[in-house]
Amino acid sequence: MKNRINHDQNEVERLDALYRLNLLDTAPSESFDRITRMASQIFGLPIAAVSLTDRDRQWFKSRVGVAHNSIPREKAPCAQVAEQAQQVLIPDLQADSCYRNSILADQGVRFYAGASLTTREGYSLGALCVLGTEPRETTALEMDALNDLAKMVMDQIELQHAFGRIDPLSGLPNRTQFLEDLADQGCDRPGQRRFAALIDLVSPEQLNNGVSAMGAAYLDKIVEDAARIVAGAIGRERTAYHVAATQFAILAPPGVQKGKFIAGLSNMLDRLRGNSNERFITTASVGVAPYTAGETAPAAVLRTIHSAAQAARSRSPMITTYSLASDSAHQRQFHLLGDFGQAMRDEGQLSLVFQPRIDLASGECTGAEALLRWQHPKLGQVSPAEFIPIVEQTSLAEPLLKWVLEAALQQLVQWHAGGKMLRLSINVSATNLKQAGFAQTVQLLLLKHRVRPEWIELEVTESAVMGDIVNATTQLQILVDAGIHVAIDDFGTGHSSLAYLQKLPAKIIKIDQSFVMDMHRGRRERQLVRSMISLAHDLEFQVVAEGVETAEARDCLQEMGCDEAQGYLYGRPMTANMFGSWFEEFSVPQGEMLRIAS
Ligand code: C2E
Ligand code: MG
Ligand code: MG
Repeated sequence: MKNRINHDQNEVERLDALYRLNLLDTAPSESFDRITRMASQIFGLPIAAVSLTDRDRQWFKSRVGVAHNSIPREKAPCAQVAEQAQQVLIPDLQADSCYRNSILADQGVRFYAGASLTTREGYSLGALCVLGTEPRETTALEMDALNDLAKMVMDQIELQHAFGRIDPLSGLPNRTQFLEDLADQGCDRPGQRRFAALIDLVSPEQLNNGVSAMGAAYLDKIVEDAARIVAGAIGRERTAYHVAATQFAILAPPGVQKGKFIAGLSNMLDRLRGNSNERFITTASVGVAPYTAGETAPAAVLRTIHSAAQAARSRSPMITTYSLASDSAHQRQFHLLGDFGQAMRDEGQLSLVFQPRIDLASGECTGAEALLRWQHPKLGQVSPAEFIPIVEQTSLAEPLLKWVLEAALQQLVQWHAGGKMLRLSINVSATNLKQAGFAQTVQLLLLKHRVRPEWIELEVTESAVMGDIVNATTQLQILVDAGIHVAIDDFGTGHSSLAYLQKLPAKIIKIDQSFVMDMHRGRRERQLVRSMISLAHDLEFQVVAEGVETAEARDCLQEMGCDEAQGYLYGRPMTANMFGSWFEEFSVPQGEMLRIAS
C-alpha cells in the first residue's frame, strides 16, 4: 500500500515536472529531430522517437519512421522507462510476456531500446527510443550512445528553458531558436534553397497608438490570438517562431514553390483579418525572402524577411518578396536615422540655407525660406527630401525643430541688426504639430532671441494639418494669436477639403512647385493655377507660387494676381553669407543700377 502511495505521489510530481516544461503538443524542432535521426542511424533502425510520457499517452516530440504523433500509454515500453527512470531493452517483443500483446507488437514491432530522459531532479519525462521490425541484440556501445543522446535531448530541453527559447506569451519558439534552427539546417542540408516569411502584425506607430489607447493586456490578447492562427495555419508539422513582440517567422517546407508558399500566406492573412474585429490585425503585413541553407547567414534571413515585410506595409495585399533595391533603401534610411542624432550635436554637419521670396507687385525681396542641409561625413550632401521624412517619424523631430529655430532666429537677428528687414519662413513637420508644448516652444525661443513674432512664418504642409485637424488647428491658432504667420506649404499635393482649409488659422498658401513648373505645358495647366489663385483669394489667403524658374512663369503669375513668388529665377537656396550679398545686389533700385553702370 505504502509503495503504491509513493508510486502515485512520484507520478504526480513527474507529470508536474513534464507539464512545467510546456513541451507537450509543441511544434517539431530541428534541434530534437537531429538527435532522433542520429539515434536511428547509430542502430541502423527505421524507427526512433523522443517520446514523452503524458498521463495516458506517449507523445512524440520528435520522430523518424512513425506516422502518428502519439500512442496510448498502456503497454508502451517508453512508459516503463519513465516509471522506472532507467533504460529498457526488449530484444524481442514477441518473446516478452508483458509486451507480446501490446499495440506496438500488434503493429509488427519486435525490437525496442529506450534511454530515460531524466531531469536534473531525477524525474523521467519519457524515452529516447529506437525500434525495429526484427528481433535484435545490442552492444554496450550502442546503449551507451543511446544514453548519451538522451542526455543531449535533456540538454536541449534545458537549454530551451534556461535561455528562454520559448516565448512565454505565445508558447512558440523565439528568435534565438529561429536562428539556431536555421543554423542547424545549414549543417544538415547545406545548399538547399528555401523560403522564409515574416508576419508583422502592426506597424510601430499602430503599436504605440494601440498600447497607449488600450493598454498592454490588449496587445497580449492580439498576439496570443495571432500566434494561434499562425501556428494553426501552417499545421502541426511545421514551426512558427515568435521572433519579436508582434512578429512571427515561418520557414517554407523544402521543395515548396514560392507561388504556393505565398498563396498559403495569403490565406493566413485572411484568417488573421477575418478572425478579429480588432482594427489592428487587419494591418498585418508579410515579407518573404529566399535563402540557401548553410550559405545565407541566419541573421541575414531574419533581416531580409523583415525588410520585405516593411516594404509590404505600403502594398496590397500586403505580401512582398524581398528585393535588394528596397532593402538597400531601408538600410540607408536606417543608417541615416542612426547618424542624425550625432549630426545635431556636431559642428558643421547641419546648416541652413536661405531662398528669397519676392513680392510680385513691388518686385522686392520681403523674406526668405530657411531650408536645412546635411553634409554627412561619409555620404556627402543628403537631401532634406530624403532625411526629413525619416526623421520626422521619430522623437528626433522635436530636437530638430529646436535646432532649426535656434539657427534661423540667430540669423534673423543678425540680418535685422544689419538693416535687412526680412521675414523668415521655417518648415514645421507633422510630428512637431503633435508635440504637446509645440506652440510654447516656438514662443519661448522667440523671447530668448528677442525676435518679434511677426518676423517669422511657419510652413506646415496640408497633409500635416489634415492628419490631426483638431489639434493642429488649436496649436496654430495659439501661434497666430501671438502674431506669428502661418503658411500652408505644398498646396495642391494633399487631399484637403476646402471646407477645412477655410477653418485653418493660416493666412498664406504656397502653391506647390509641380503646378507652377507645369504651366508652360498648356492652357489647362495655366488655368489650374489661375483657379487655385482665385479660389485662395476668395478664401482670403495670400498666395505664394513655388518653383518659379522662368520669366514667363513670373509674368504669367503676375498677370493672374499671385502675390509672391519663390524659385530659381530669383535665387537658389544660399548660405547666409551668399544670401547677404545677393540681397544687397537685388535691393539696389533699377535707377541706382543704371547710375553705377554708367
Ligand atoms: P519645401 O518646403 O516645399 O521647400 C521648397 C523646395 O523646393 C526646396 O527643396 C527648394 O530648394 C526647392 N526649390 C525652390 N525653388 C525651386 C525651383 O525653382 N525649382 C526647383 N526644381 N526646386 C525649387 P529642398 O531644400 O530640397 O527641401 C525639400 C523639402 O524638405 C522642403 O520642401 C521641406 O518640405 C523639407 N525641409 C527642408 N528644410 C526643412 C526643415 O528645416 N524642417 C522641415 N521640417 N522640413 C524641411
Ligand atoms: Mg517649405
Ligand atoms: Mg513647398
